[in-house]
Amino acid sequence: MHAISYPLMEDFYTIQGEGFNTGKAAYFLRLGGCDVGCVWCDVKDSWEAEKHPLVTVEEIVERVLKSGADKVVVTGGEPAMYDLLPLTEALHQKKIECFIETSGAYPLTGTWEWICVSPKKFKAPLPEVLKMADELKVIVYNKSDFDWAEKNAGFTSPECILFLQPEYSVINVIMPSIINHAKSNTRWRISLQTHKYIGIP
Ligand code: SF4
Repeated sequence: MHAISYPLMEDFYTIQGEGFNTGKAAYFLRLGGCDVGCVWCDVKDSWEAEKHPLVTVEEIVERVLKSGADKVVVTGGEPAMYDLLPLTEALHQKKIECFIETSGAYPLTGTWEWICVSPKKFKAPLPEVLKMADELKVIVYNKSDFDWAEKNAGFTSPECILFLQPEYSVINVIMPSIINHAKSNTRWRISLQTHKYIGIP
């Protein structure tokens, strides 16, 4: 049988730095391939899937187990471009929890303990994926992103936790507006990329 594999840009055991699961140890799987095209993307090297080695599900699971992690964060790139069911099934068999970070631009496959949707204007998320989100994390680059944030929040479930996160390169400029928005729209929380402050990936 042909082994199922994914283009893996990088994988490492670290601490989740942002969003709801901040502070939790997790093994990150960054899959290559993304056609969303965010101008401020800080992982542009991930865009071309062909640049990254295909790694089998078995090998991925082995690496996760070897690290001692009990949670995996699947990110990208845009991981939802792939059928992720074989990956989550194999991880769940080993009692590893599966979290995903996706733009929501593709139908979501796999089974997940935590779904973080980070919608991007450059390729809008699918309403059915927004509905499944446990967490909506909107990156705020300029003030027009608040309207974008509210529009997407309108598609989420009432239980979905809403985060505004400053785009790191403009944090000093945009932070006062984010604070104001969170104070006057109290369903929103602020997420910071804490890993960048403590020097971990
Ligand atoms: Fe980069 Fe993520 Fe946007 Fe893709 S969705 S371009 S990986 S920030």
